[in-house]
Parts: sequence; C-alpha cells; structure tokens
Amino acid sequence: MAIVNAMEKIVEIKTEEFLENIDCCKCEQCLENIKCIALNNLPAKYVSSSKGELFSRLGQIMIKQNTVDIDVAVMNAINIVKEHPRHNK
Ligand SMILES: [Zn+2]
Repeated sequence: MAIVNAMEKIVEIKTEEFLENIDCCKCEQCLENIKCIALNNLPAKYVSSSKGELFSRLGQIMIKQNTVDIDVAVMNAINIVKEHPRHNK
C-alpha cells in the first residue's frame, strides 16, 4: 500500500484539459511549474492506494465532484506560467 496525494492526479488531468484550449508553452518545465503552483494553492487529498490504476480512477471520480476551486487554482497557475515562463531558451 502506498499513500498518494489524489490532488496531484486531479491537477494533472485538469492542466492537460485546460492547456488544450490555451496558447501556453507546454514544455516539461512549464507543465511542472503549473502543477506546482496549483498544488501549493490546493489542499492535499491523501488516499491509500495499492494500484496506480485506482489512483487514476479516483482522480476521474473526484473531478466530477465540486471542483470549482481546483479549476480556479489551475487556471491561475497557467496564467502565471504563461506570463512568466521559467524555462531556459
Ligand atoms: Zn516552457
């Protein structure tokens, strides 16, 4: 059994979803920055999980619940990284 933060998975899914329609850099560094900023503004949701698959499904289920706060946090994070990308060019 492992303890995982389900919020990480939710933020990952949300970030990918939003970025499909947003003109923002999608390099690894920027994606990580977006997830870090969003996660720092959201409460952790720890769950015990023996399988990665369960972890993934849990993320999907939680997304269908009240996720306005998560949407806002991810959108803010994307805007911050979009305006101030930290990647090396
Ligand atoms: Zn980038």
